Amino acid sequence: MSTKYIFVTGGVTSSLGKGIVSASLAKLLQARGYSVTIQKLDPYINVDPGTLNPYEHGECYVTDDGAETDLDLGHYERFLNVPTSQANNVTTGRIYQTVIDKERRGDYLGKTVQIIPHITDEIKNCVTKLGNKGTYEIVITEIGGTVGDIESLPYVEAVRQFRYEHGYKNTLVIHLTLIPYLNAAGELKTKPTQHSVKTLQSLGIQPDILVCRTEYSLGEDQKRKIALFCNLDNNSVIESLDASTIYDVPLMMADQNLDSVVLEKIELPQRNTPDLTNWKSFLSRLKNPVNTVHIALVGKYVELQDAYKSIQEALVHAGASSECKVEVTSFHSEELDDENVAAALEGMQGIIVAPGFGRRGLGGKITAIKYARENNIPFLGICLGMQCAVIEFGRNVIGLNEANSAEMDPQTEHPVIDIMEQQKDVTDMGGTMRLGAYTCKLEADSLAHAIYGRSEISERHRHRYEFNNNYMDNYVEKGMVPSGMNPENNLVEIVEIPEHPFFIGVQFHPEYRSTVANPHPLFVNLVKAAIGEKHAIAVN
Ligand code: GLN
Repeated sequence: MSTKYIFVTGGVTSSLGKGIVSASLAKLLQARGYSVTIQKLDPYINVDPGTLNPYEHGECYVTDDGAETDLDLGHYERFLNVPTSQANNVTTGRIYQTVIDKERRGDYLGKTVQIIPHITDEIKNCVTKLGNKGTYEIVITEIGGTVGDIESLPYVEAVRQFRYEHGYKNTLVIHLTLIPYLNAAGELKTKPTQHSVKTLQSLGIQPDILVCRTEYSLGEDQKRKIALFCNLDNNSVIESLDASTIYDVPLMMADQNLDSVVLEKIELPQRNTPDLTNWKSFLSRLKNPVNTVHIALVGKYVELQDAYKSIQEALVHAGASSECKVEVTSFHSEELDDENVAAALEGMQGIIVAPGFGRRGLGGKITAIKYARENNIPFLGICLGMQCAVIEFGRNVIGLNEANSAEMDPQTEHPVIDIMEQQKDVTDMGGTMRLGAYTCKLEADSLAHAIYGRSEISERHRHRYEFNNNYMDNYVEKGMVPSGMNPENNLVEIVEIPEHPFFIGVQFHPEYRSTVANPHPLFVNLVKAAIGEKHAIAVN
């Protein structure tokens, strides 16, 4: 089987939704029976986004194999329901690191190491590595950034060479651009798109398909004009109108035959028409809710839309599965205190405390958890959210006034959350946390067991601190119990309060595993508990 390669580039501005368009195309091809994967090449020098602040780059997504990646990989998994891995996200930093390591080893002995051919060769290697696995008939590679940027140049050159080497029928370039609407003129303007395509052409690449992001529908005349000035077939100008939900985009692309035009150009059989039955029924449940539920999301990056992307999407999936509109209200943890918490959280039927790092906003998180615990409001604490639940319980129920995480106060008298043994000697910050999927055994008769409907699960992690087992007896005695443990090292993965209707804290990140096809049971059951339904309905 020879793999076909599709490259997706972007022009005019960033944030046009290349990730969603790539995921939508992949969904349509998958729905026709093709095996597809998506890869993101990011033109920044960080080796991965793990060391980036969410303000810089949105959420850091984590794969099963422990890669800290761009959040677009989350979209790929949510759309395709197929796990991604380190190979699906490569940055300029990683490419340079590989090339420099090779240079030091002497792999290029005698040669001058240069952007062309060494960096471009390494970029091409990263693409073919996925294709050569023999698993995928189609590899879609999304090039981050905007064509014309200095950082993107080696990638665009690598794509140019790749097409020459693999053949023009085995490769395809889709360029995503913006068609702005000028209010004063009352017109959509195609000139920026023409210029962006010219930039691409000047770098030796003729795009095969243009996807045009636009607020208003392009008429046939506009499409023809774009096709004429950009050397495209008339059926190869696709509009991407602003959508009410990202999950509409595959259907919008299908309406304009994006998938069949792609298959025709890469000379693959049309096979069956896409089977989108399940996707459509998800959309119909999403758009026709019978209930509304109010969920509070407490975190310190809430002002940034993308900081908790996977949690937001997991709630969308969970809501659709219960035909329930989930209204998420974000609360900045720095703004919550004992005085205002009741008024602020009034009307919230469920509370999530988000993952995070560092001391800022810790007090507000603890306050929100106390409120959820004392008022029997369904609560889900994720990673730092779980750790805060342990601190809160330690301080307010067990009476350990100094209970804290060693992350927040290394000298604390009661480090109920402590640094993991394996982390003590870690000095580098990048890629050194406990990362990726680990097994967790669930206690029979626990809420966790009822939620998952089985006794062993695997979830993804990203942390350095853990529940301090020296305090286990104090917790169990007062009513907070560990209901999920890592079977190898006894690390507490889940805590819950059996007396509370729904209070659960998880050391892992369930949000990374929620997809359209498989809404995550923790979020599904949080929503059910919040609307007052019995939670013990296993979903998988
Ligand atoms: N800062 C905490 C730790 O490192 C929690 C991490 C997280 O929420 N992802 O353990």
